[in-house]
Amino acid sequence: MILVTGGAGYIGSHAVLELLLAGHEVLVLDNLCNSSPAALQRVEQLAGRAPHFVRGDVRNRALLKALFAAYPVSAVLHFAGLKAVGESVREPLRYYETNVSGSIALCQAMAEAGIFKLVFSSSATVYGESPVMPITEERPTGVPTNPYGQSKLMAENVLKGLADSDPRWSIGLLRYFNPIGAHESGLIGEDPNGTPNNLLPYMLQVAVGRRAQLNIYGNDYPTPDGTGVRDYIHVVDLAQGHLKALERLEQVAGVSVWNLGTGRGYSVRQMLSAFEEVIGRPLPHVYKPRRPGDIAQCWSDPSKAREELGWEAQRGLPTMLRDAWRWQSRNPRGYAQDKATVAGATQTALAS
Ligand code: NAD
Ligand code: UDP
Repeated sequence: MILVTGGAGYIGSHAVLELLLAGHEVLVLDNLCNSSPAALQRVEQLAGRAPHFVRGDVRNRALLKALFAAYPVSAVLHFAGLKAVGESVREPLRYYETNVSGSIALCQAMAEAGIFKLVFSSSATVYGESPVMPITEERPTGVPTNPYGQSKLMAENVLKGLADSDPRWSIGLLRYFNPIGAHESGLIGEDPNGTPNNLLPYMLQVAVGRRAQLNIYGNDYPTPDGTGVRDYIHVVDLAQGHLKALERLEQVAGVSVWNLGTGRGYSVRQMLSAFEEVIGRPLPHVYKPRRPGDIAQCWSDPSKAREELGWEAQRGLPTMLRDAWRWQSRNPRGYAQDKATVAGATQTALAS
């Protein structure tokens, strides 16, 4: 059985679905601070069976201990964390506590229970502003410009130190580039709380009339059209990368780092034109000054994941945008319209 922390969230729910489809038993631990149980209900609908679900906090060692005693967990995918950059600047301690202390509590409980396989959700943000593109895993990590990025780098360092200290650990650090898109069914997708920080969720909300216009932050970057360039990756490709990483951790010990990206960068203007093509109309937008802390460009060299995991992103930008639009246009208010109950999923009354 695989424990998926944060499994009700955007990336986690897609990973839970892929795990179920591949035949794994899945246990989700999520405190639902940024997600809805409706996501798991829909995962069940798609997979034809439900993950076990426990509502609780990854920082709660007593709960983790009880979970590992109750379920035969062999490996953990650790998505649970906070991810809003701006919020992390205002509330740094909450970010360090959840993202760093939460990871430490999880590893302590895993070690006590004799579980040593872990896949961690890291981010390309740990590279900081790299002067070289594309970015390989060999690039030194940089200086993230906000507590969110710092917390991911700190968690990576904690996990490296842990694996150095004990050869039983086998840990995959997956550095995601920019996850977008949704499952092709249109049933699960990204449902941010409040105002979206990220480009595509914002464009989607403009397209369904929840926001007036897209703000394009900066058109004077040293990029071909002056707007920021990123490596967008389909969330289903990303989720599948986790299954490949789990397989690989059966064979290798220590810490392994893999970039999960497509290897291709698109500018904000390219994203906007491609999205307008998908929705078949222009999207209102205005140019604004650069957003503090943003870098000009960032795209991956994903060849290490291809060589070592046998994984490669399969879905191109038009598919990412079409799938995202199917999700958003069918669920303009995300999961808010669902009655929040998880039929069929096990709500276990363990210590919390
Ligand atoms: P998300 O917010 O949709 O999912 C995170 C899940 O973790 C949510 O369901 C939330 O309720 C849960 N959670 C948060 N704190 C918790 C806690 N203390 N205990 C238990 N559950 C908790 O975010 P996501 O986009 O799915 O991201 C998943 C992971 O990937 C995060 O660690 C994030 O930092 C990382 N990541 C995301 C991106 C991105 O652009 N989405 C990029 C790089 C890395
Ligand atoms: N961006 C934008 N308007 C928005 C959100 C983002 O112009 O409302 C730009 C941002 O400046 C960057 C790109 O879109 O160049 C991707 O931003 P996002 O926040 O999605 O990803 P990150 O910057 O974290 O890689």
